[in-house]
Amino acid sequence: MMTAPKLRLLSLGAGVQSTTLALMSAVGELPTLDGAIFADTGWEPATVYAHLDRLEQVLADADIPLYRVQQGNLREDTINAAHRYASIPYFIRNPHGSAGIGRRQCTSEYKLAPINRKVRELLGAKPPHFRRVPSRRVAEQWIGFSLDEIHRVSDKNRVSYVRNSYPLLDRAMDRKACQRWLRAHGWTSVAKSTCIGCPFHGNAQWRRLRDESPAEWADAVAFDAAIRKGSARGRPLNGEAFLHRSRIPLDRAPIDHVTAHEWSERQVDIFDLIEDGDPDGCSPYGCRSGASDEGRSA
Ligand code: SF4
Repeated sequence: MMTAPKLRLLSLGAGVQSTTLALMSAVGELPTLDGAIFADTGWEPATVYAHLDRLEQVLADADIPLYRVQQGNLREDTINAAHRYASIPYFIRNPHGSAGIGRRQCTSEYKLAPINRKVRELLGAKPPHFRRVPSRRVAEQWIGFSLDEIHRVSDKNRVSYVRNSYPLLDRAMDRKACQRWLRAHGWTSVAKSTCIGCPFHGNAQWRRLRDESPAEWADAVAFDAAIRKGSARGRPLNGEAFLHRSRIPLDRAPIDHVTAHEWSERQVDIFDLIEDGDPDGCSPYGCRSGASDEGRSA
């Protein structure tokens, strides 16, 4: 017989979809959550932290705790040789000129792992490591995939103590429906949750960062320069790493226009990705980056 879930938790990415789920629960349109878990990479834009602060208050009024979990600081860990780091999907130019993309480990290490640890803790695993969940304890975990993202649903990260649930799919809500719902409830803009210097940003995101958040733009530019030979720890790259897909330093990258190469790939979804980046932000549960390539040449 299947064990009934002991807890109902939300994996809160803090973007449009998971914010909709959190608020729907808070106002009683969905069952009451036992908690929402946000994994902080330590490198989110200020707008995301402001959004979380506001959301935390609304959830607290509905007796739903918002847990912020963190496993290091992605930015600092990457450029500090004394720290362990997880690979970021940089755009790589190899010495002989070929292009690659770095492996994406950051999401699982800085988001998925701390979320799972918190779930185990809430299910009764013992400190200090919270490794073992007592038998027959299971959590229902809401994931905010909307109807337009059904392709992101995957069993890849399934663990025995979590049963995934997709309330937006059950309600046939797509991203636009979520945005309409949020507007109707007074949430007119929701920042996209993503690291300040995530290589998945599209040109529009880079422009917004440059034009509206100069300090965060300067931070991303400095980080981009710092990772040219890869992360501080480990074997230096033979080639060079970049945050922008053009494989040009960020402060000179062509973020104001679409390049000829990009035009040549003008299938609609690729164009959208180049211009807008990942519309859904970074999800631990469904990677849109496609097949990765270590990009380290021998
Ligand atoms: S937002 Fe980008 S850099 Fe940050 S964890 Fe996700 S994939 Fe990695």
